[in-house]
Amino acid sequence: MSEVVLSPVQQRTLDRLKRGDEPVVFDRAFIADVRAEMRAALDHFSARLDDRQELWISKHKIAAVLECETYSLEPDEFEWTTANAKGTIAHRAIELLVSWRGDPTPIDLVDEALSRLADENSGIGLWVAALSSGDEADVRGQSVERVTSFIENFPPLSKRWRPVMEASVRWPSGGPITLAGKVDLLFGKPDGLESRKVIVDLKTGRPHVRHRQDLAFYALLETLVREIPPRKVATFYLDAAEAHADEVTEALLETAMRRTLDAINAIVELSAERRPPRRQAGSSCRWCSLRTTCDVGLAYLAPIED
Ligand code: SF4
Repeated sequence: MSEVVLSPVQQRTLDRLKRGDEPVVFDRAFIADVRAEMRAALDHFSARLDDRQELWISKHKIAAVLECETYSLEPDEFEWTTANAKGTIAHRAIELLVSWRGDPTPIDLVDEALSRLADENSGIGLWVAALSSGDEADVRGQSVERVTSFIENFPPLSKRWRPVMEASVRWPSGGPITLAGKVDLLFGKPDGLESRKVIVDLKTGRPHVRHRQDLAFYALLETLVREIPPRKVATFYLDAAEAHADEVTEALLETAMRRTLDAINAIVELSAERRPPRRQAGSSCRWCSLRTTCDVGLAYLAPIED
């Protein structure tokens, strides 16, 4: 079998993701403590909820409520546009790449992704199905650019790595509060107690601290569900062709747990206990529907917009 020769960028990415010399094995007592503390906290929060109230806790909800509580309660005005759809289409195309036989081109993958999305009768599927020829060509071109970046700059996904795209994780299996996430790309599997999994988020745009916090939440979820944390989490920036990776450590998991519990506590206070929301300026102000009337947001945005 011919050896795969990696490009310098693929090699750099691989170097950032690969295992170190020492096996990563987490202390079992630490894992048990994390799971027990999370379980006890969810029981406590559940008891404070209104009858039949259910909470679905995602990375977006955690980030929104911790960034600005008022913003987190605003109705979701999300609409599909070329700018936000290109990432989702590229993700779907890369998902197809993982199980595609042969050597597909980025255009093959994006066309198949668009066709499959157009058959879905909701969300982005309806948006794709209604695109004019010009708009479809636009989003197709931008998605192809991202898939090309992934194929050219990410190391080829060997089947031996057991790559999985869009893997859903939820915890716990019962109760009114569910923590949920969908991982863009996951590969590796634990060897006994040794952590070998790597979680990768694919992003367009610029690095943001929130990306690392999202990944830490995924690492926490993986720990809660499988009891073996991943060994590494990474964001791969498609535009810059660069991976930013973090080793998973006890400190990273502890921080993710505190942040998650702080967010759930705030959500329970706001939704079940009717505490008035607080306003806090930050990056959410840019797309908040109150940005033209909120004093806090206006004061924050004025120097940036100047
Ligand atoms: S403009 Fe900023 S501070 Fe005001 S509610 Fe929106 S996100 Fe919060």
